[in-house]
Amino acid sequence: MVTDYLCPNCKGHLLLSDHLILTVRHETDSAMLLLMNPEVGNYQTMHHHSHKIVDGQKFSFFCPLCHHELSSDLNENLVMVLMKDDKGKMFELHFSRIAGQKSTYKIMGKEVQTFGIDAPHYLDFIHLIDMS
Ligand SMILES: [Zn+2]
Repeated sequence: MVTDYLCPNCKGHLLLSDHLILTVRHETDSAMLLLMNPEVGNYQTMHHHSHKIVDGQKFSFFCPLCHHELSSDLNENLVMVLMKDDKGKMFELHFSRIAGQKSTYKIMGKEVQTFGIDAPHYLDFIHLIDMS
């Protein structure tokens, strides 16, 4: 699988050594790097041991390269990065910024593929055709 993840603002590469790398911050805490599994629907993450992530906490996500805040125009609880698949097709990948919430939407044009057990939670906001 040779996929790539790009910042929607600076188009910088966010995938390194099999990790999608983003900067996150919870409220007034200091920012930290979050390493995410690049496999869509896999919610394993890694972060520095000095930080604690509690389910239900809402995080702000930023591009680690240009520091642009990543947000989704679909819902305020989602963030979006660009995903390029092994055939060079570009998708929007929207996922929840609430810790523990497993909802991911892979979108191209008017079609969406959903991932995660919490995906139906936001589906009402997304007026697209579910192709999963
Ligand atoms: Zn960027």
